[in-house]
Amino acid sequence: MPDTANCAGLRPCPFCGTRPANAIEIDVATWAVPCHACQAIGPLAGDERRAAELWNARPAA
Ligand SMILES: [Zn+2]
Repeated sequence: MPDTANCAGLRPCPFCGTRPANAIEIDVATWAVPCHACQAIGPLAGDERRAAELWNARPAA
């Protein structure tokens, strides 16, 4: 299995506990993990992998 950011690699949302889907490119070269349940947006990053890492680094609510 490739070591890429994907659903299985993302921690649940710190706000609502929903496990988000992949990070998405929300702007040109700007990626973040969005929570589809509560509309929270994870830290912005320059690529999908980093966005996922930053999302996972957030402290639990
Ligand atoms: Zn959420």
